Amino acid sequence: MRKVVLASHNPKKARELRRLLKPLRAELLTFGDFPGATPPEETGRTFAENAVVKALYAMELSGMAALADDSGLMADALDGAPGVYSARFAGPDADDAANNRLLLERLAAVPEARRGAKFVSVVAAAVPGQGVETFTGEARGRILRAPRGENGFGYDPLFLSDDLGVTFAEAGDAEKNRVSHRGRAMRAFLEWAELRLIIGH
Ligand code: IMP
Repeated sequence: MRKVVLASHNPKKARELRRLLKPLRAELLTFGDFPGATPPEETGRTFAENAVVKALYAMELSGMAALADDSGLMADALDGAPGVYSARFAGPDADDAANNRLLLERLAAVPEARRGAKFVSVVAAAVPGQGVETFTGEARGRILRAPRGENGFGYDPLFLSDDLGVTFAEAGDAEKNRVSHRGRAMRAFLEWAELRLIIGH
């Protein structure tokens, strides 16, 4: 079976990626399978920069094809913040609850009409000897004033999806993947992989 390294250490994100990558019919390895892996700091100014750095690191570490997702939330009223800082919006060790609280605080005075936002995911695929390609997916919605739902992770409970009419935390895994930024980016990758038939060949 072909092997692909998933450059992610967020277990909830990895769970979504695993499900989305089923059509690849590959054994998915993670940094956990490579003792001594020291994933690079995410210091890029764009999602694409961070995704490419992570994918190239995983490819070089393993000698195998590698996939990385870098993603985040961009609120219209905050000029695209938290953006690439989504995971550490409220500080370097911030958890989801602290990040969500800060987002609500920053948007407290923002009226309904200006609470639009989008999730963005850039997936980078690095293949030995073939360089790196990126695929982008976006999902639009708006930021509620209080969390709704228990599923998902990160900002999901505050993000009312335009496509679904419920928050990503109220949606089931399959429903979220169908319309999410990560689902869209991954399907673009899968189409590319299918066309090229290069992964594992
Ligand atoms: P990354 O692991 O550096 O790509 O950070 C992504 C961060 O963006 C996560 O920690 C979340 O805060 C946020 N994020 C990205 N995708 C999602 C999602 O699907 N739902 C909720 N939050 C997300």
